[in-house]
Amino acid sequence: MRLKNKVVLITGAGSGIGRSTAFLFASEGAAVIVNDLDEAKGRETVETIKELGGSGLFLQADVTSPESVDAMVKAAIAEYGVIDVLFNNAGISGVGALHEISPEQWDKVMNVNIRGVYLPSKYVVPHMMERKSGSIINMSSCIAEMGLARRASYSATKGAVLALTKSMQVDYAAYNIRVNALLPGTIFTPFVEQYLQTSYDDPAAAIASLKTRQLSGDTGKPEDVAHAALFLASDESKFMMGSPLYIDGGVVFG
Ligand code: NAD
Repeated sequence: MRLKNKVVLITGAGSGIGRSTAFLFASEGAAVIVNDLDEAKGRETVETIKELGGSGLFLQADVTSPESVDAMVKAAIAEYGVIDVLFNNAGISGVGALHEISPEQWDKVMNVNIRGVYLPSKYVVPHMMERKSGSIINMSSCIAEMGLARRASYSATKGAVLALTKSMQVDYAAYNIRVNALLPGTIFTPFVEQYLQTSYDDPAAAIASLKTRQLSGDTGKPEDVAHAALFLASDESKFMMGSPLYIDGGVVFG
């Protein structure tokens, strides 16, 4: 078991990549703290973990709210005493060229996707510093490295997450805290489904075009990203610091 006796906190684990990662981490022996804004979805993740014989706890919090995140981290520490791994996964999509979107739409994406990495890290890092141990995984995207049409706000957040990852790594390396980023390509989740339904007149044609853009010829699955997250969470990646890890079917370099 690669995460035996480890405590991990995954934000946005009520769906998609976060949920899949929660299942995998639990099957590798971790106690998984499942965070989500959506209580029903978060609880469902924990129920499944328990049905599969794993250990999980749901903590609702809005990753954009300092009070909410502070309370979540306090509750996690009260329950387990430590957080070994933080996976900053929660995120939302943003569609539109910048002249098409309102300042409110821009701020919403910035808030969830960047403030939502800053705040959980801000409250978890002091505990990791004290123990001189920790692994933080930040969810970026391959979009940070390539121009895609009408994704202005979303691209900006994922580029910022990558830069923040490197900055965090420099600040916390002396405390034996590793900070790395995941850069997935198109992974078929409710997030992508919603984006396709709301952004294209012909979602089926859009899916076909997404598939051909990846060298793999297909979109990825949440489990593909979960396995990369497992590597970054475990000691097997101990020589990876501030690194971007691509799980993109070759879309960036193809
Ligand atoms: P998803 O929509 O299936 O899951 C995201 C979860 O985050 C949801 O359960 C949602 O309730 C939760 N969430 C949203 N706002 C929150 C908040 N304020 N506080 C707490 N939880 C909140 O999406 P997904 O596809 O699994 O995406 C997960 C992450 O992966 C996101 O950061 C996304 O940007 C990133 N990503 C996804 C893809 C992809 O193709 N699916 C590609 C690259 C990066």
